[in-house]
Amino acid sequence: MSEHLSLHALFGGTFDPIHFGHLHPVAALAHQVGLQQVTLLPNNVPPHRPQPEASAAQRVEMVKLAIADQPLFRLDQRELQRATPSWTVETLAELRQERGEQQPLAFIIGQDSLLTLHKWHRWQDLLSLCHLLVCKRPGYPATMESAELQQWLDSHLTTDARALHQQPAGWIFMADTPLVSISATEIRQRRHDGESCDDLLPAAVSAYIDREGLYSHCQGRDILRR
Ligand code: ATP
Repeated sequence: MSEHLSLHALFGGTFDPIHFGHLHPVAALAHQVGLQQVTLLPNNVPPHRPQPEASAAQRVEMVKLAIADQPLFRLDQRELQRATPSWTVETLAELRQERGEQQPLAFIIGQDSLLTLHKWHRWQDLLSLCHLLVCKRPGYPATMESAELQQWLDSHLTTDARALHQQPAGWIFMADTPLVSISATEIRQRRHDGESCDDLLPAAVSAYIDREGLYSHCQGRDILRR
């Protein structure tokens, strides 16, 4: 039992760019579960994978702008400071070492990420390091394609948020979060098509995207030509 240590939650993503589909469900989850703080962890995308359109520095800047007036969120740039790919399990192992065995830790993912969790590096080790908190996302089934993943999920599910605070790791909690139909892909596509996406992300992030000429119309044409 570790009631004296408050549950520490992390939320990883490419954030290319960060948007309301990240911020709103996670804020609702924080309210539901009683999280005091959520740490955003921008990914280091390995060179053999499709690269984000924004640079790491731009993705960080957009996260900073998005959370500037939101005390719930903080930023941790550790994955970007590594030369190696961002394996979530390794970041969590590092945090576990820093924070000690008794610290309740949680990693937040969207429903779409849960469906492909069995493809993550050492996915079955995740629950020895943290709890998993899952936000709803529209358009994704609730049943796993992988029977092994479904079985793993079923055997670790809890509906009791108190368990997340009382134990350091080991539970999966499906949060009842609002369905927000926004993706970074849609935002980039809208920008490439010359359409506005101001309703999909914080105004300060939108203004930054304009200032930097990110995801621009011309850039879109270049990408299509490649
Ligand atoms: P892209 O469209 O480029 O794939 P994305 O919008 O899915 O990006 P990511 O940065 O890849 O955003 O996602 C980070 C995390 O946020 C993932 O766990 C993902 O499941 C979750 N997430 C993203 N958008 C939503 C949303 N609209 N609702 C719930 N969860 C989301």
